[in-house]
Amino acid sequence: MTRRLFWEDTYAKEFDAEVEQVEANRIVLDQTAFNPRGGGLVSDTGRLNGMSVIDVTKEGDNVFHMREAPADLRVGDRVHGVLDWERRYKIMRMHTSAHILSAIVNSETGALITGNQISPDESRVDFNLENFDKEKMNYYLDRVNEAIQRGLEVKTFFMKREEALATPGFVKLANAMPPTLDELRIVQIGDVDTQADGGVHVRNTKEIGKVVGLKTENKGKSNRRLYFKVEDTT
Ligand SMILES: [Zn+2]
Repeated sequence: MTRRLFWEDTYAKEFDAEVEQVEANRIVLDQTAFNPRGGGLVSDTGRLNGMSVIDVTKEGDNVFHMREAPADLRVGDRVHGVLDWERRYKIMRMHTSAHILSAIVNSETGALITGNQISPDESRVDFNLENFDKEKMNYYLDRVNEAIQRGLEVKTFFMKREEALATPGFVKLANAMPPTLDELRIVQIGDVDTQADGGVHVRNTKEIGKVVGLKTENKGKSNRRLYFKVEDTT
């Protein structure tokens, strides 16, 4: 099982690790700060011993680091990992924004999220909603930016699986949680949103800056897609 350093310190930009498994260009380490693709988030990228890591995936409890070419690494080798921090930090800001946006649209309309894609430059959230126009989008985004400006603390903690499942609203995507985990990671954004979530977030919503809506799209009768990005406020 790969130790997830990004759960202990989301702001870790570099780390040391030992190679545990090598399969052509895929490498498993004993620990990593690279957040793998999943839960709608694109993976981190960066370098391992100076060579590019182009994708990171998870299979069971292991995290696989994908390099462009077969790795000249052996089991037991020591490696130094460096994240593409600019990309990762944008993903963190986008991800926390998506949670706030989903919580606000849900509390205003009761709509549920049917999908999301969090990328550094443009993200999207899909809602199960029939009535969604530009005016409504701007109204929700104003509420989102008000919440961000309140400087809400983002806390993460672990909770027994049964306890989390028994708390209303904590597990929004029950099937997305690996059945092997007996503890779930909970992410709490001030008084706005609390849910089981494995992804990376900022510590305080002020770090997000500002959320800007880009466009909305109709994806079927009752499915609305909202595209957004984050901007610095300074
Ligand atoms: Zn999330």
